[in-house]
Amino acid sequence: MSMKVIVDLTTCQGYACCMMEAPTVFDLDESAGKAVVIDETPAEDVRSAVEAAARTCPARAITIENG
Ligand code: SF4
Repeated sequence: MSMKVIVDLTTCQGYACCMMEAPTVFDLDESAGKAVVIDETPAEDVRSAVEAAARTCPARAITIENG
């Protein structure tokens, strides 16, 4: 199974919780105050970290699609 990580930038408030949970997948565009997905199709071994990021995102802006 592969996953695709999507951040809804209209919802994202730049809280940066996501990059603390999964720093290889998320970064922060500080000038925009929005998350940047640096690895849209991460390997399985970071799935739990990505799921934790989605859970902890205060704006609920992270979607994980399974393919
Ligand atoms: S945790 Fe959510 S609101 Fe915060 S930067 Fe990441 S996606 Fe945006």
